[in-house]
Amino acid sequence: MNSDEKIARAAQWIREAKHTVVFTGAGISANSGIPTFRGEGGIWKEIDPNYFNIEFFQKKPLITWKIIKKVFYDKMIQAQPNLAHFILAIMEQQHKVQTVITQNIDHLHQDAGSRNVLELHGSYKRLVCTKCNTEYDYRFADLNFLPPTCFVCRGTLKPDFVFFNEKLPSITKQKAIEEAEKTDLLLIIGTRAEVFPANTIPRRAKENGAKILEINLIPTEITHHLTDLFLQGDAEKTMKLLCQQLTCSEQCGCEEI
Ligand SMILES: [Zn+2]
Ligand SMILES: [Zn+2]
Repeated sequence: MNSDEKIARAAQWIREAKHTVVFTGAGISANSGIPTFRGEGGIWKEIDPNYFNIEFFQKKPLITWKIIKKVFYDKMIQAQPNLAHFILAIMEQQHKVQTVITQNIDHLHQDAGSRNVLELHGSYKRLVCTKCNTEYDYRFADLNFLPPTCFVCRGTLKPDFVFFNEKLPSITKQKAIEEAEKTDLLLIIGTRAEVFPANTIPRRAKENGAKILEINLIPTEITHHLTDLFLQGDAEKTMKLLCQQLTCSEQCGCEEI
């Protein structure tokens, strides 16, 4: 199959599917300027991940908060969703996508308009009180005074993403696995899905009979073992090609790129 035929086949699968689940990782947000965490040029090459160990944070929240503010709230927070996020949101409105499961903490799926989003690792757009669990939109916290504290109980606030040695939100994880078991088409975008529990999602979907459609820059372990159709390329460009076969309208913004 040449690449046009692959796109046509993928579009056909999306049209025919009854319960499409999208599973995203860092690759979908790269075009929005969000740096990766792992690997070459990733955040953990610059910053010692030990600061993001939950036990360190509990003992020395101020030290970690100074880094958090610099990394997430001074710059990354300004990132905007790209075409791939917007197209997925439109596909959801048109009932071509039922659920998005993401490993990203950037909240860009919701910012683009997706509603049914499961954030496996939480998001930095929310803060949560470490004492009473009250959640806040980050914009309501005063980050000029660190560490920020809870308006209810004065407890220390923490970004609502998962730190090292911290448990994943179990309800979200459970829902994600249920979605993987329910889907008949899993669309993987921009992730190697190597880390637990991300690695269980494609496997569960496959075991339950789903087709696996994968968009990644380079082939991954999934490509070799699970994927039925691999679309090699950048998330934004590939989603644009799919959009043009599926949902294209004035709404999506494809024409502007
Ligand atoms: Zn509190
Ligand atoms: Zn379009």
